[in-house]
Amino acid sequence: MTHSSPTPITVTKPYLPCLEEFLPYLQDIWSSRQLTNNGVMHQRLEEALASYLKVPYVSLFCNATIALIVAMQALRIKGEVITTPYSFVATAHSILWNQLTPVFVDIDPDTFNINPALIEPAITAKTGLIMPVHVYGQTCRTAEIEEISNNYGIPTIYDAAHAFAVEDCGGSILRHGDLSVLSFHATKVFNTFEGGAIISYDKKIKKRIDLLKNFGIADELTVVAPGINGKMNEVQAAFGLLQLKHVDRAIAKRRNIDRLYREHLADVKGISIPRNDHNLINNYSYFPVLVTPEYKRSRDALYNHFRQHDIITRRYFYPLLSNLNMYQNMPGAIKENLPVANSVSEQVLCLPLYPDMTEEEINTVIGCIKA
Ligand SMILES: *Cc1c(COP(=O)(O)O)cnc(C)c1O
Repeated sequence: MTHSSPTPITVTKPYLPCLEEFLPYLQDIWSSRQLTNNGVMHQRLEEALASYLKVPYVSLFCNATIALIVAMQALRIKGEVITTPYSFVATAHSILWNQLTPVFVDIDPDTFNINPALIEPAITAKTGLIMPVHVYGQTCRTAEIEEISNNYGIPTIYDAAHAFAVEDCGGSILRHGDLSVLSFHATKVFNTFEGGAIISYDKKIKKRIDLLKNFGIADELTVVAPGINGKMNEVQAAFGLLQLKHVDRAIAKRRNIDRLYREHLADVKGISIPRNDHNLINNYSYFPVLVTPEYKRSRDALYNHFRQHDIITRRYFYPLLSNLNMYQNMPGAIKENLPVANSVSEQVLCLPLYPDMTEEEINTVIGCIKA
């Protein structure tokens, strides 16, 4: 019997429109000869995203990590940054790259986001910033964070890398805090191959961000700050414009997969599915489950069992940032201080979820968990 070997089921696969659809955009770039530096595609994408995301200002970046670094520069942050250990390494790395000190506080068992009740006790005379993460696109407890931020006069920058198009009952969750940072990496819900953006609410700050991402160059003869090269190029921006046309359909497909997983895994003993009803509108960016001790295998045994069946899941987020070499001596990093984050990190597994996932693939994943 001959049949082509199936491609492995991976945790995510980028959603690509057909290539023909992209060619006219490339044609435009070729005829304009403007390849980067705030070209037409770049300007159009900033406008299109501001309108789609219902936010006033978008500053595009080459990736979210540089955007996070620049966001802290733009607010001239000093000292300590209160953050979560339960995130992708870029969150803490961007703090370190600004020569700031990450201070870890534990997460909330309900959302896996920073626990606001633990922020206040972590504030010191050196605290310069609060940096929460909307993990898996679940909104942080923003009202409580805002109250602390206001009471102490400490700004907040949200790492919103997972939170494209997410809304709570007041609108876009990107409206919270002083700034929010999105990622458009290939693995995210909306992608420009690599890319990112800072969402701002103040025209002056938007201007400072745009200077900082272009070496601090104000005009031909004037350099006003030691900026960096964080620019998004025209091909990426054009791809973003095209992706934006498809993103609603992509999210709808994700929603359907999320629903099927929830239905079929609801009563598997030991598999705990986090709630996702914190938002008004979700983006279904990830499907995390907790593999608890009541399940017949350990989390890592399930991970390996999947691998034997050509299914690549991910332990997002394991290891915990606070357990990495470069962070384990930072304030708050000791395990006893972070019991929830350590426990979730040891049980979590993100299941495959991508818009083009077939029903057969979904059933294969479910079958592996139940078998
Ligand atoms: C993906 C991600 C980033 C980094 O995004 P890049 O665009 O790859 O630099 C930052 N924070 C979180 C939480 C992420 O998941």
